[in-house]
Amino acid sequence: MGATGLVSIIERFAVRDGPGIRVAVFLKGCPLRCWWCHNPETQHTTPELLLRDDRCIVCGSCVEACEHEAIGPAEAAFATNRSRCASCGDCTDLCPTGARALVGTRITAPELLREIDKDRVFMEQSGGGVTFSGGEPLMQPQFLDEALRACRAAGLHTAVETSGYAPWSATAVVLRADLVLFDLKAFNDDVHHRVTGVSNQRILDNFRRLARDHPAVRPRIPLIPGVNDDEANIEALGRIIASVGLREVDLLPYHTTGKAKSEQLGRPSLLSNVAPPSPEALAAARRQLERCDLIVHVEG
Ligand code: SF4
Ligand code: SF4
Repeated sequence: MGATGLVSIIERFAVRDGPGIRVAVFLKGCPLRCWWCHNPETQHTTPELLLRDDRCIVCGSCVEACEHEAIGPAEAAFATNRSRCASCGDCTDLCPTGARALVGTRITAPELLREIDKDRVFMEQSGGGVTFSGGEPLMQPQFLDEALRACRAAGLHTAVETSGYAPWSATAVVLRADLVLFDLKAFNDDVHHRVTGVSNQRILDNFRRLARDHPAVRPRIPLIPGVNDDEANIEALGRIIASVGLREVDLLPYHTTGKAKSEQLGRPSLLSNVAPPSPEALAAARRQLERCDLIVHVEG
């Protein structure tokens, strides 16, 4: 019997997480709590209720559906007591507008492959493939291993996007992928701990080991104004990347979609009043990395 994975979303026509047109599979669960998280719905290891109040037409269907009496009263049907919510999803099935959604579905590798295979023609014509992201895919190493094996057996290009925060026994699963997208956030360990909740020692160890053992590791630096965009940090990360023999790096500018999703999950955003980096700040970071002899790609 194979493992089941907990998946938040299977995104079709993804174009940012590897070459060509891809299917991006976002796995749930992450040991980090980055202030700027772009996918907060993937952080927890259980299904979660996502509420979009702008879509609610106050039809009341959800009040009737909830056996846990977490919703209501009827005239304010959208109001939900999350401490009572059991994340059963009964209300989402009846909501006619998509104001309620349950994030988190269990799926096996063969089931996932059947979903992915629906987009095979686009992947093949564009030189694309499948990217496993999250959350942190390495939190579900057995499922990830089975899914990577299934995709490779089906002739699909595979990529894994990771924070690198996992024991080597789990990290080594990505040796099976064609491409590893490896996020690097902060060089200084105190800063890293403060803005992500964990030390960067294991991450840097895994990065160096993967750069040695895997033929296609692509480092990525999220650029978060006022958090990790200072010259010393960007330069230090550039030096680490160059020191392991890699020549290309992606710069990922902060964007605010994670903030809206945090609100829909009923969790306060850890980063408020921060705007995406200016063109000047992006250009400065690019120049610092180029001074380390790196080719820099800025995610548009
Ligand atoms: S997910 Fe289940 S428990 Fe939670 S509000 Fe909806 S019906 Fe009630
Ligand atoms: S079922 Fe959906 S649209 Fe109807 S009251 Fe509940 S949240 Fe609003």
